[in-house]
Amino acid sequence: MSVSTRRRFIEIVPFAGLAFVAACSPKVEAPVAVLPTPAAPEPVMPSPVVPSPAPPEPMPATTAGMPMVGEKDAQAVALNYVDDAARANTTKVANHVAGSQCNNCALYSGKAGDAAGMCPLFPGKHVAAKGWCSSWVKKA
Ligand code: SF4
Repeated sequence: MSVSTRRRFIEIVPFAGLAFVAACSPKVEAPVAVLPTPAAPEPVMPSPVVPSPAPPEPMPATTAGMPMVGEKDAQAVALNYVDDAARANTTKVANHVAGSQCNNCALYSGKAGDAAGMCPLFPGKHVAAKGWCSSWVKKA
């Protein structure tokens, strides 16, 4: 074998080997892409029965024994409440109406002659009939 023939043989053998191996190998199917199946939806559990909160206490028909609003209570301070309308801060509250007091306010529910009565702005407490706050509204 000449040198050029030997060189040519060395160049061809690897490719021939590969071709031989490929021809003798079993056919391999192309891999099939397997898509993930979507997860089954979570079973819907029935929501637990939550007892509804107790309804709020209705306003008592009688107000006997109900405490008085204190002028230093947070709500009273916020509304400039005083238990004597004569002490209303008329310079601070621009909408003050002369002669206005709780017992002639639309929100007051005390009876005529009562010293105190209820006002929805101060739940659970009495306001003085002669009291006043900056939310006063003329009784119709
Ligand atoms: S809203 Fe009327 S009844 Fe209530 S505190 Fe004010 S002035 Fe008095």
